[in-house]
Amino acid sequence: MALTRQDCERLDAEDPLAGSRDAFALPDGVVYLDGNSLGARPRHAAARVADVVEREWGQDLIGSWNTAGWFDLPVRLGDRLAPLIGGGPGSTVVTDTTSANLFKALAAALALQHDAEPRRTVVVSERDNFPTDLYIAKGLTDLLDRGHELRLVDGPEDLAGALDERTAVVTLSHVNYRTGALWDLAEVTRQVHAAGALVVWDLAHSAGALPIDLLGADADLAVGCTYKYLNGGPGAPAFLWVNPRHADARQPLTGWWGHARPFAMEDAYEPAPGVTRFLGGTQPVVALTLVGCGLDVAERADLAAVRAKSLALGDLFLALVEERCADEPISLVTPRQHDRRGSHLTFSHPEAYAVVQALIARGVVGDYREPDCLRFGLTPLYLRFVDVYDAVEAIADVLATRAWDDDRFKVRSAVT
Ligand SMILES: *Cc1c(COP(=O)(O)O)cnc(C)c1O
Repeated sequence: MALTRQDCERLDAEDPLAGSRDAFALPDGVVYLDGNSLGARPRHAAARVADVVEREWGQDLIGSWNTAGWFDLPVRLGDRLAPLIGGGPGSTVVTDTTSANLFKALAAALALQHDAEPRRTVVVSERDNFPTDLYIAKGLTDLLDRGHELRLVDGPEDLAGALDERTAVVTLSHVNYRTGALWDLAEVTRQVHAAGALVVWDLAHSAGALPIDLLGADADLAVGCTYKYLNGGPGAPAFLWVNPRHADARQPLTGWWGHARPFAMEDAYEPAPGVTRFLGGTQPVVALTLVGCGLDVAERADLAAVRAKSLALGDLFLALVEERCADEPISLVTPRQHDRRGSHLTFSHPEAYAVVQALIARGVVGDYREPDCLRFGLTPLYLRFVDVYDAVEAIADVLATRAWDDDRFKVRSAVT
């Protein structure tokens, strides 16, 4: 039986997360399916930033490093974020970019291996990983250049074959940015440890989207974004987590904020205890404030409910696409099984770029990824079942009428 918009209205009425949508300011007439790339704005973010700029900076000036708690924001935000990734207290900082944090985390993991087993110099990752993860890993192995190299696998089936007595670190993205495929974090961590290697997880597309238990899996280090499912705003600082078991790990960007006594201004560097040593220099206070606004919303939601709704939204999306677009050359790229997918759905279509632009022109905002992917992020905190219904109606219409076949939809912008 065909699904109706009324069916979706009923699902929204029964949705335990329906109330969280009010926490976000979303433009009218837009179905936002790109929250996996840039999360929506928490409603209270503008007033909070105005307060930081006008009062904390404008009135209290430099005193705010102490009185407004600016100085320890990276650590306090890390402690608030930790429960969302199963990290435990004192294990997480919010700082720098995911790219920079991955550099520090990989370098720390390689240094731990160098101390224990110096022949382990190979970093293993996935060929289809997010480009920056591979660029950073390659840049670091080239820089170290003491037998270091980057080895790539095609997927979970190939991982075992890439683990040997030279493997130092495996770094993987928990959810693949393009396909939405989900790695089994606990099982892969176990497999990597059994081979004598360490694992650095990139949680960019999973933090805030599904329950994660880093300590339960006994993972080694992790990094991730706050501007995706954590709604921290454009370019928001990223996070870095270190298992307390590795509290002695050293990272190479030994800036003064990671010093044991930054204001003693000592000649010699001495790392701060624990994860604080992963801080480099002076932190972006305004941007960190926005991360706090995103966490205000995220920490009120039950991640099990978020995950359940994400899968339900995805199942609805799929069922509707299969019902309405059966005659179109559109096919699912994301694994269908619940335990193999993250929180976005990717389809391939030969005219994917133009299709995405035509949809955006109708207020249905997804994005395009090379070479032929349409990507739709499912963000349970502010997406409704009726939004999915309306989005697929628009997709079906754009495909059936060939509305995408228009020159204005084929012009590439700098950011796709
Ligand atoms: C989004 C994303 C990044 C982004 O890194 P930045 O340093 O914030 O640009 C990194 N890795 C993965 C897997 C991502 O999905």
